[in-house]
Amino acid sequence: MKCPNCGDRTAVDLDMHSGGFTSDQSPVKECGACGLVWRVTVDAGVTKIDIIKPADRKN
Ligand SMILES: [Zn+2]
Repeated sequence: MKCPNCGDRTAVDLDMHSGGFTSDQSPVKECGACGLVWRVTVDAGVTKIDIIKPADRKN
């Protein structure tokens, strides 16, 4: 999926399974362009974006 900050498509999944995330949460993504770390969650059918770490660079 596209980065919600800069729209780049080089986001990669971070392997954080050992961190205790539950299976109903999407993998944590990191943008290869701006460094934003985020996760998509679905709460009552509404898709939300959780920003875990702000982008390293401003666009
Ligand atoms: Zn980005």
